[in-house]
Amino acid sequence: MHRIRRTRIIATLGPASSSFELIKKLADAGADVFRLNMSHGTHDEISHLYNTVREVEKKTDRPIGILADLQGPKLRIGVFEDMKILLQRGQKFSLDMDSTPGTNKRVELQHPEIYEAAQVKTELLLDDGKVRLLIDSVQKNIIFTTVLVGGELSNRKGVNLPSAILPLASLTKKDRKDLSFVLDLGVDWVGLSFVQRPEDVMEAKELINGRAAIMAKIEKPSAVHAIDEIIAVSDGVMVARGDLGVELPMELVPAKQKKIIRHARRAGKPVVVATQMLESMIKSPVPTRAEVSDVANAVFDGADAVMLSAESAAGDYPEEAVSCMGRIALTIEKEPSYKRMLSEDSTLPEATTADAISAAAKQVASTINAHAIVTYTGSGSTALRASRERPETPLLVLTPNMGTARRLALVWGLNCVHSKDAVDFQDMIDKACGVCYEWGYAKLNERIIIMAGMPFGSPGKTNVLRISRVRDHHLDNRLK
Ligand code: PGA
Ligand code: MN
Repeated sequence: MHRIRRTRIIATLGPASSSFELIKKLADAGADVFRLNMSHGTHDEISHLYNTVREVEKKTDRPIGILADLQGPKLRIGVFEDMKILLQRGQKFSLDMDSTPGTNKRVELQHPEIYEAAQVKTELLLDDGKVRLLIDSVQKNIIFTTVLVGGELSNRKGVNLPSAILPLASLTKKDRKDLSFVLDLGVDWVGLSFVQRPEDVMEAKELINGRAAIMAKIEKPSAVHAIDEIIAVSDGVMVARGDLGVELPMELVPAKQKKIIRHARRAGKPVVVATQMLESMIKSPVPTRAEVSDVANAVFDGADAVMLSAESAAGDYPEEAVSCMGRIALTIEKEPSYKRMLSEDSTLPEATTADAISAAAKQVASTINAHAIVTYTGSGSTALRASRERPETPLLVLTPNMGTARRLALVWGLNCVHSKDAVDFQDMIDKACGVCYEWGYAKLNERIIIMAGMPFGSPGKTNVLRISRVRDHHLDNRLK
């Protein structure tokens, strides 16, 4: 239960990781949250994955979060007769509205707006820009191209037309169907793809109505421009580098990543770095040195979580990818320069009781060398403020709300325990001490810090900082 690593890991599930055994292995290897990619898989497959994660959670001692990532207005090709094709430089290839499976001459592209917007002599990019086509001519519902950069192309890969402006709704018909499906399943987070404006988030927020937290994926230049407004209305954001690096020159992505992380951290909202982090591990049991540096840099930037996509969903080494990510994060977190970064980069508390108490907890814990900072939270907001301080002391969150515990699974440093509500102030102290002992945070006579609220039972009223020692009688107060 006591996870020393602070940076969280999100692992995408897919064909390579759909069985109970594999998902359990990924959880044991360190995955904190699982991502269901609504661009792939039928509702039956998605609900099977969902239920399997919840089964795995029963066999682990940490709440596990589930993020359902909506496809959004992402343009995708259809499928191929043999799942994939190989395109050669210089060959002709066309895209059309015909839904028969594709060949290496043509494939379906079921987006009528593209045929209006596509311009001759501009590029059409496939699979995050790995395959590039030059548009030769456009007819009604068919685009003729020549391959500029060839390669393998498999079912349902993404399509970008960087030079065209497409009038697309932020939630497609498919997204609305998928959204109501995943909300009924009970997912903890919903990912919104291709958010361009805060209004896009607001629209989804109305539909979601508090049933899941919202993660806005930043993958459009317009979203980077409106980053503070988007962060303000979202529960978290993702640096979605796959599409961002196609929509923008990719050499701009590293600086945007740092900017997005800085702004999200300032707001106290979790931020995830995603895509191609350990890409070569799809086929290899060890990553490249450059990939190790990339994960390390996201950790140094203070990201809440790092994400695996195809590495865990469709690769040959899903378990190795998770454990590799965990090792990199943990190693960086032990570096003196990481600790320096945390203290130098820390954001000033806002003028609220929760922030004052969070900042004080961090400082008191370090002065007396306390073994844990314990927060009680119902909605999760106090825990988010405590994490925002990025204290060196381990953070333990007690919540009677399992949904909150699962949502917080992707937040930097938070270790959540689902616990019964305390009956009074003393019980709150006793429970905190008992849980710290039970989970190995503190031994007998060691000190912990508790952030609490008085009068007891008023939500959102964190206004007391308590220093306690674990005593004999706390050992009976363990939670089962
Ligand atoms: P995707 O989003 O994997 O759903 O495309 C992440 C990204 O674009 O980086
Ligand atoms: Mn994307």
